[in-house]
Amino acid sequence: MLKKLIPFSLLCLGSLFSFGQDIMHFDVDVTQNMDTFYVKATPPKKLKKANAIFQFPSTAPGTYQTMNIGRLVSDFKALDKRGKALKVELVDINQYKISKPKKVKSLTYKVAETFDTKLTELPIYMMAGSSIENDHTLINAHTLGGYFKGMQSNPVGIKILGKADWTTGSALKLKDGYYTATSFDELVDSPILSGKLTMAETKIADTPIRIFTYSEKGKLNSEMLLGEMKQMLESAEKFLVKLPVDNYTFLYYFLQNPSGVTGAWEHSYSSEYVLGEGEPNKAFLKSVVDIASHEFFHIVTPLNIHSEIIEHFNFEKPTPSQHLWLYEGVTEWASHMQLYRGGVTTFENYIANGIKQKILINELYFSPDWSLKRIADESFDGGEGAKQYGNIYYKGSLVASYLDIRLLELSGGKIGLRETLLNLVQKYGKGNPFNEKTFFDDLAAMTYPEIKDFTDKYIIANEALPHAEYLGKIGLEYTRVSDKNIVIKKKANPTENEKMLFDAWSVNLPR
Ligand SMILES: [Zn+2]
Repeated sequence: MLKKLIPFSLLCLGSLFSFGQDIMHFDVDVTQNMDTFYVKATPPKKLKKANAIFQFPSTAPGTYQTMNIGRLVSDFKALDKRGKALKVELVDINQYKISKPKKVKSLTYKVAETFDTKLTELPIYMMAGSSIENDHTLINAHTLGGYFKGMQSNPVGIKILGKADWTTGSALKLKDGYYTATSFDELVDSPILSGKLTMAETKIADTPIRIFTYSEKGKLNSEMLLGEMKQMLESAEKFLVKLPVDNYTFLYYFLQNPSGVTGAWEHSYSSEYVLGEGEPNKAFLKSVVDIASHEFFHIVTPLNIHSEIIEHFNFEKPTPSQHLWLYEGVTEWASHMQLYRGGVTTFENYIANGIKQKILINELYFSPDWSLKRIADESFDGGEGAKQYGNIYYKGSLVASYLDIRLLELSGGKIGLRETLLNLVQKYGKGNPFNEKTFFDDLAAMTYPEIKDFTDKYIIANEALPHAEYLGKIGLEYTRVSDKNIVIKKKANPTENEKMLFDAWSVNLPR
C-alpha cells in the first residue's frame, strides 16, 4: 500500500474450483440507498454448531490498519427457511453469534459505505474503503462481507446489483453472475469497481493488462493512463525477468475532493487507486505511474515473498509482521530502481526521487527514534504508530538502497538486492511463506554473514543511516549542504572498484 501522506506531487489465480454447494454467496444491492450496501449472504448449504459466529474483518492484508468493519454494520438478521428471524447476539465489535446456526438460510444486513461515513476514531484509508454514488460503486469485500467461523477458506461469490449499463472491473472471474473467489482471502484480495468507467487493455509479453478508470469530472481515462503505463510495465518485466502473474488489472478512481487519506492498495492480480482528480498533463500522469510502479511491484513482495503471518491472514485480530521493511521498503526501492535500470528515468531523477527526497522526508516528517522493526510492530496501534508508519516508504526504501549496495559490494558486483529477491521468489513463492522469526538469519545464510550485521543495525536497531559511506561505495559523493539541501553527484576520481560497483548498480545483472 502507498499512502499519499505528504502534500507532494506524488501521492502511495485464482485456481479452479467447482462451483459447488459449499460456496458462500453475497448479493449486494447498491441501488436502494446512496450511502448503504444492502447485503444478503447465503451460506453454504448447511451450517454446523462450530460455524455459529459470523465474523466481519478487523483489518485487511497490506493495510496495516485496524478497521473494525463491524462498526459500519446495522440491521443484522439471520433468517430461517421461512424467513423468520433467528436470535443473534453481537458478541464482539466484529462478531455476531447465531443461536441456531443449523437453521440459517440467509443473512441480511446493511453496511455503511466508508467514503461518506464519518469515523472519528480509526478512519479507514479510502483505497481500502467503499463507495456508492449514482454512477458507480467501489467494493472492497472486507468492508461489507465476512465469513462464518471455520469457513474463511470456503469459495465465495459476490454479485453486485447496480445499473444495467455499468462496466465492471476486477481481477475476479465472473461465473453465473457472481464474481467468484476460492476463499474469503482471495475475495478481499480482489477489489471491484463498477459504474461509468473507461477501459483500456494491452499485453506485456504474454500477460494481458487491463485498466479501468472512474473519473468524477471525466478528466482522465484509461487510454491516457495506459500510454504512460506501458514503459513502466516493460521495465518491470525486465527487472523481474518474467512477470509472475498471468493477468493484471489496474482500478483507478479519481475524485475531486477526497474525504480521507488517498493512495493505492496492492493485490495479487490487481491494484486499486483512489486519488485526487488532477489535470491530465504529463506531470500528473507520471505521478500516477510512479505509484503504479510501487503497487505493481508488490506482486513480488509481500505477494510472493512473505512470512506465515501474512500467509494465514488473521481477520479477527490485527497481527503485525516485523518484515514490513521487506514488504513496503524494498517494494518502494524497487519501484524507483526498476524505472532507472529500465531507462525510464535518468540517473539524476533517480537520485532526486529515490535517495534525496527519501532522506529529507525521513528527517523532516518522522521521528528519528523509530527503527523499521518498531514501525512494523506498532503499525496497527493507531496514534503514534499510525503517524510513523509512513516512514516505511522513506527510511525503509533507503535501507533497501543500502542493502542493495552492500550486497553488490560483498559479491564483487555479481548479486544485488534485485537478484536476491528473485532468488527468494524461487526459494519461497506463493503459498510457501518464510519463517517470521528466523528470516534475518535465513537471509544472511543465503547471502553473506555480514548481511546479519546490516539487518541488526538498520532494521532491528536504529543506527543512523551512513549515507556518505554507502553512496561512496558506488562512487557517489554525498554532501550535506544544510538541513534541507543535499548534493549527491558522481565522484571526480572514483576508484576502479567504485566504478565497477556503479556499473553493476546501474543495470539489471544477468541471470
Ligand atoms: Zn505498498
